[in-house]
Amino acid sequence: MTKKYFFLVFALFFFIALGGANAGATDIDARPLVVQGAMDLEIQELVKALDKPKEITFGSWTFWQGTIDNLPVVVSRTEVGITNAAAATLLAIEKFQPWAIINQGTSGGHDPSLHRFDIVLGEKAINYGKFKSNHRDYGQGTNPLEWIPEDVKLNLDGKRISFHGFEGDPELLKIAESVASSYQYGRVVKGIIGTADEWNRELDRIKWAHERLGTSVEEMETASAAQVARAYNIPFLGIRILSNSDPKMKTGILRQGPIARNMSCKSLKP
Ligand code: SAH
Repeated sequence: MTKKYFFLVFALFFFIALGGANAGATDIDARPLVVQGAMDLEIQELVKALDKPKEITFGSWTFWQGTIDNLPVVVSRTEVGITNAAAATLLAIEKFQPWAIINQGTSGGHDPSLHRFDIVLGEKAINYGKFKSNHRDYGQGTNPLEWIPEDVKLNLDGKRISFHGFEGDPELLKIAESVASSYQYGRVVKGIIGTADEWNRELDRIKWAHERLGTSVEEMETASAAQVARAYNIPFLGIRILSNSDPKMKTGILRQGPIARNMSCKSLKP
């Protein structure tokens, strides 16, 4: 098992702890836990951990239904990005009626105090790619750092409610924290997961998101899945391991040791 899978071991400890939290659910007909990951490398160890997995595909989105320690689990490959994450989450809810949803996978560091292989438990997930800008005339250029972030709205019981991010479920957070000491390859911290269809490497943009919105990491799915889960009131938690970190590269910390200093999407593939 290579380093990139270590957090999946953490995830497995987490599911076993969840088994206790959902002690009623012992057979495959009971409501499952849905565990999402965007790419194969983020789900393949979980699929392997399933007892008698059944593969089911709806459109672009594949699910594996089985059990882990008698706990019904559906592993979902959401595919990359916010549209895919929303669609996969809606399908997961409508087709499998989960009692909770975990969205987990890789991410890029925003908080300079975090290192690769640290894990962020999502106290909150924010869609940080939603903006409006003030008027500028032709020829006046563009400055994304001046764009104004906008909250996401959900229609709940006929009222449009603004969400400045979606909270992780407090019970799921507690359970995840209770098994954090089982993870040996970095810190496990609570934080804010920033989601957008963006891979940012400009340090000023990363700093802006960290300082203005408090993001600990960036990735492309969690807030979108959390939004759909919130619409259905399904307990949700995002868990993200740092697989890359431009702020750390700047300080040189990642230049030491065998870790690739410039991890691209390609190198994220197993
Ligand atoms: N361009 C590729 C992206 C694949 S890598 C494509 O469109 O298919 C992006 C995946 O890795 C996403 O699922 C995202 O959640 C995660 N990720 C890891 N590090 C990231 C970072 N620094 N910024 C954005 N997403 C990141």
